[in-house]
Amino acid sequence: MGFKVIRIDNEISCVQETGVANFMRCNIWHVKGRDYDLVIDTGMGLNSLKKWILTQTQKPIKAIGTHSHFDHSGGLHEFDCRLGHKAEADAFASGGRTKVMYRGGWSKIEIVNPKEHPDFSIKTFSITPAPLTGYLDEGDVLDLGNRTFQILHLPGHSPGSIGLYDAQSKVLFSGDAVYNGQLLDTHPHSDKLVYRATLERLHDLGAEEIHAGHEPSFGTLQLRNIISAYLAGENTMADPVTWYNENTKLGVDHYKDQVWVS
Ligand SMILES: [Zn+2]
Ligand SMILES: [Zn+2]
Repeated sequence: MGFKVIRIDNEISCVQETGVANFMRCNIWHVKGRDYDLVIDTGMGLNSLKKWILTQTQKPIKAIGTHSHFDHSGGLHEFDCRLGHKAEADAFASGGRTKVMYRGGWSKIEIVNPKEHPDFSIKTFSITPAPLTGYLDEGDVLDLGNRTFQILHLPGHSPGSIGLYDAQSKVLFSGDAVYNGQLLDTHPHSDKLVYRATLERLHDLGAEEIHAGHEPSFGTLQLRNIISAYLAGENTMADPVTWYNENTKLGVDHYKDQVWVS
C-alpha cells in the first residue's frame, strides 16, 4: 500500500504515492538496468519508498533527485546512494520546509488526502534531510550496463534541476523542467530568463518520449506545444492558492485517479 505503478515498458515504470493530490504528486521513475537500477525522484516520503522498491528489484539502486522540491525529495533519505546537482546540495542536506519550497501558497493547500494520511498536517510536515552522496552535472553519464543516460543541467524552475537523456532511445526524464501542465517559474530560486534558455534547448533536443516530474508522459509534438506556449507567455501558474480554490469551487476532485495515456 501507499504506491501504485504504471508500467511503461520492460525497464521503465512510473511509481506514484497514493493519497497525494494529482496536481502535486510527483512521478517516481523506476528504471531497471543490467548493473543497477535508477530511482528518479522519491515523492513526499509519506510511505517508505525504499521498502516498496525492494519488493520490485534485487539490483543496487542509485536514487536521483531531479531537484530538491518537497514533492520530489521526501523519500531520498532512505537510499544509500543519493545523487543530485550541487546547486541544490544545501536544500537536500537541510530538508525541512523552506529550502525545499514547502512555503508560501504551497504550504497552504491541502495536498494530502486526510482519509489516507490522517496524521498529515500542513503545519508540521517537513522533509527528512538527505545529504547528497555524489553530484551529477551537465555531461556526466550514468551507464546502467544495457543503456546510458546523459545528465542535462536544466536550470530555471530551480537552479539545480537536472534531466536524464538516453540519446539512443530518445527517452528523456525531465523532472520539473517540463511536464504536461502549467509550468512554474515563481519559486524564490526560479530564474525566468535561465528557464527560457533551458526550454529552448529542450525544444530542439530531439527527445521523443518524455517522462516528466508530473502528469502523464508525452511525445515530441506535445513537448514543443508546451514549450512554445510558455515562451509565448502562456502556460504558467502564478498563484497556487487561487488556482486551487477556483478548482475546488468547480467541484474538481483533486484525489481522483489520473487518466494516464502512455
Ligand atoms: Zn519542482
Ligand atoms: Zn514538482
